[in-house]
Amino acid sequence: MKTIGVLTSGGDAPGMNAAVRSIVRTAASMGMTVKGIKRGYNGLIENNIVDLDIRSVSDIIQRGGTVLYTARCLRFTTEEGMQEAIKNCKVNGIEGLVVIGGDGSFRGARDLSLRGIPCIGIPGTIDNDIPSTEYTIGFDTAMNTVVELVDKLRDTACSHERCSVVEVMGHGAGDIALQSGLAVGATAIIVPEIGFDLQNVIDKILETKKNGRNHFIIVVSEGLCDATQLARQLQESTGIETRATILGHIQRGGNPTLRDRVVASKMGYAAVELLSKGVGNRVIGLKDNKIVDYDIFEALNMVKSFDQETYRLANTISI
Ligand code: ATP
Repeated sequence: MKTIGVLTSGGDAPGMNAAVRSIVRTAASMGMTVKGIKRGYNGLIENNIVDLDIRSVSDIIQRGGTVLYTARCLRFTTEEGMQEAIKNCKVNGIEGLVVIGGDGSFRGARDLSLRGIPCIGIPGTIDNDIPSTEYTIGFDTAMNTVVELVDKLRDTACSHERCSVVEVMGHGAGDIALQSGLAVGATAIIVPEIGFDLQNVIDKILETKKNGRNHFIIVVSEGLCDATQLARQLQESTGIETRATILGHIQRGGNPTLRDRVVASKMGYAAVELLSKGVGNRVIGLKDNKIVDYDIFEALNMVKSFDQETYRLANTISI
């Protein structure tokens, strides 16, 4: 393979740039050139493609977001869009493609692989919601952002002896809520894998109040309940002044942490190594902290497991 392409797709995540940098430089070290495709699969369809050389990815390893931009692309899910993308791959000499994104982006990569363009997926999303990997690029940065922000909320919750309900992202996965909830010493962590039980949360607050606690942090994964309404219900039931904060997209930004830069660099390297051998239709993942790869069909059929042990631990020590 002489020329490969790279694109970022789905939601942005800190560390995507570090992956792009690694892909470009690994490819250069193997004598391949890299084309950067802008705005996800849109760039393939619209022929929005630029050359990336080793210096064009200078000074991006530390930057959040994605220099290639990212977007959803409905047209790519149609045969017509797919054929246009294949045509532009041929026009640009792109023989293989690295797709950095989530499960949806991997489906696109699978479809393109089936039509003769070998693709490798790299998991890039803050939510850690991809079953085929224990870690996705951006997760560590997002969790650290949540911890930094909730620590600030805790200062004021403590001073005013309040309860603070904090809604975090997760896209159907409770990983951000669980890990950051443990790290901020949350009184209760509400995640989709366990489900939402209002009475349990009320009981936990009242029980810890009895133990002498004067302020409370409740971390809730997005999509499970209305955080503002939950705050109102908790205030009514416990008599403790309760405020809601929805952290929102602030969790997506910021400079990637060391972990995200390192994992992204390793995954980028592994993706190019596979393409250099002519291997496609694979996704990169992390298993037991080691880089692995799976067939995309197999990866898309995997079921995500939830870290029950950490959930129990967080619950046990939040007394
Ligand atoms: P995130 O988890 O951050 O949302 P994602 O990769 O899962 O990331 P999606 O919006 O699901 O995000 O998918 C990104 C893009 O991948 C879509 O806009 C579309 O272009 C492409 N895609 C998704 N599903 C398919 C599919 N079944 N076939 C072909 N392409 C797809």
